[in-house]
Amino acid sequence: MNTPSLEPGLYIVATPIGNLGDVSRRAEAVLAACDLVACEDTRITGKLLNHLNIRKTMRRYDDHADAAARERLLAEMGEKAVVLVSDAGTPLISDPGYRLVREARERGIAVTSIPGASAAIVALTLAGLPTDRFLFAGFLPVKAKAREDTLKELSGVPATLVFYETGPRLVASLEAVASALPGREVAVARELTKLHEECRTGTADDLAAHYRAHPPKGEIVLMAGPPLAPQAPGEADIDALLRAALAEMPPSKAAGQVARAHGLDRKALYARAMELKA
Ligand code: SAM
Repeated sequence: MNTPSLEPGLYIVATPIGNLGDVSRRAEAVLAACDLVACEDTRITGKLLNHLNIRKTMRRYDDHADAAARERLLAEMGEKAVVLVSDAGTPLISDPGYRLVREARERGIAVTSIPGASAAIVALTLAGLPTDRFLFAGFLPVKAKAREDTLKELSGVPATLVFYETGPRLVASLEAVASALPGREVAVARELTKLHEECRTGTADDLAAHYRAHPPKGEIVLMAGPPLAPQAPGEADIDALLRAALAEMPPSKAAGQVARAHGLDRKALYARAMELKA
């Protein structure tokens, strides 16, 4: 592969989430041309580089690295092209890199991103849940109370919710979703881009029952559709609401009150209130 030299700076390079065929040509070119690869685990990134026939100096880096380690990398970016990769997918997305990018930007170091796979996006493209708005919430807390609180906090967000998950915790998370987000459409995407890729949809209760019986292996994305639109009251309900209001106020006020409370047409309700009164 042609390996033109790269300008000094920080290069954020996305890598495959399971299928090596997903490495982009640009990712390959930047990995081949860079001076240093900062990574979470040199064995995992070493395998990718081997697959691409690239030999590079690798250095372990994560956001918990001490200030001196980060400082050293930032100083090197003055004259070297430094790549940041994570074990899989897009760096910074539930993976290290945030602090490094932030500090690089503060120092005026050029930051370039080479996009590629991210499990959250792949999962959304499979699930058939609304994608016009979604909220990526990373991993749910491990402790039951904190998990419940997080789900309650997110329950009003008018968007599809996307979580990263692990096999051993999936059933507990589905049970928590069933109780905090009742009635929502839920999807579980597993082993994306790999041989045993699957995406199951249903209620959280049904999916919990399935995975209780078939404990899931591998990597998982859990999604919950947006809150359900409130059901408009039926004709019988509207009559009951109007009758209750008419017992206490004149038809025009009763129609206005029921219309406001349920988002209904006031004129139509007034006509019906007059019929009921007659
Ligand atoms: N940075 C990565 C990305 O862009 O997707 C995510 C890293 S995060 C530490 C790892 C989590 O991502 C896994 O626990 C799983 O929830 C999700 N994940 C990664 N690869 C996956 C795959 N092939 N299928 C399903 N989920 C995956």
